[in-house]
Amino acid sequence: MDTELFEKLYLAGCQILPDVKLSEYTTIRIGGPARAVIFPQNLDAFIDTLSILAEKNEHYKILGGGSNVVPPDEYKGIVVSTRALTGAKFSGNRAVVDCGLGIQRLIRLAASHGLSGLEFLSGLPGSLGGALFMNAGAFGGEIGDLVEEVAVLDDGFNIKLLKAEEIEFSYRSSSLSNYVILNATLKFSYAQPEKVLKEMEHILKRRLEKQPLDQPSAGSTFKRPRKDFYVGTTIDALGLKGLRVGGAEISRKHAGFIVNRGKATQEDVVRLIERVREIVYSTYNVKLETEVEIWKGGSYA
Ligand SMILES: Cc1cc2nc3c(=O)[nH]c(=O)nc-3n(C[C@H](O)[C@H](O)[C@H](O)COP(=O)(O)OP(=O)(O)OC[C@H]3O[C@@H](n4cnc5c(N)ncnc54)[C@H](O)[C@@H]3O)c2cc1C
Repeated sequence: MDTELFEKLYLAGCQILPDVKLSEYTTIRIGGPARAVIFPQNLDAFIDTLSILAEKNEHYKILGGGSNVVPPDEYKGIVVSTRALTGAKFSGNRAVVDCGLGIQRLIRLAASHGLSGLEFLSGLPGSLGGALFMNAGAFGGEIGDLVEEVAVLDDGFNIKLLKAEEIEFSYRSSSLSNYVILNATLKFSYAQPEKVLKEMEHILKRRLEKQPLDQPSAGSTFKRPRKDFYVGTTIDALGLKGLRVGGAEISRKHAGFIVNRGKATQEDVVRLIERVREIVYSTYNVKLETEVEIWKGGSYA
């Protein structure tokens, strides 16, 4: 049955890797086998892939840089990776960028065109699509602030061009999560390339000082429930650094991160999240919402 599907996807312009462990595609290095990871080679192939999968009633997920997701031990569906969708066209102080381009590459490309604006996301391991999906932010900036227009695919597989004013961006959330993100027009400001690269280095250094970048993680585990409630500091104050379930551990460097100390599974991460949520709720009466996305395991079958 898969052979026919894979042939169709191949003809649509995709590379196909059957029976792949998702841990190879997530920064937290968690995730068992998926039926296949599909790599559309251009935006047309991406759109065709999604419509073929929908037509065949296949359960699928889109994966960008895999830096905000925790997949299960077995995922019975198909994963569509945007990794090969890396086009970027610069003109003046604007760029039209495909969803799969990595944010770090984008910052460097912009610098090479004498453009600045996204340096605050230096060190963020995701793709443009993933960053827009959740309005990624750091050090006082949010990616939504640079957006002029985004090309998306709606539920009916129609391409829509959404202007910035038609998109809702808020803290770690955007209305773009209702769509498939194809590409975006971003507006930068002019700057000397050396200045951009220096700022990038500065931000990276600040991150390295605070965050466990040498261990697999999916970034901040929880969203800040309100502006003045710092989750990492709170978890630290509760003495929970180093708390462990299986291979998942509250980072000893930054309590806002859960790190994979070896063979962590999704279940370990979920149980650890629940422990922390219970303790924070019983102490502060505050309910924590996860920023990381826990994938369900294709239990639709
Ligand atoms: C070390 C580290 C540091 C981090 N620091 C930060 C930080 O400072 N600020 C911050 O905001 N986040 C941070 N993160 C979290 C993460 O990098 C961001 O959330 C990032 O934006 C996720 O992008 P991604 O491409 O990896 O998305 P993925 O993890 O691949 O996917 C996340 C979600 O986006 C969806 N998605 C991806 N591409 C598309 C598309 N084209 N169309 C529709 N849906 C799509 C996926 O289906 C999924 O639902 C950090 C993570 C790590 C590991």
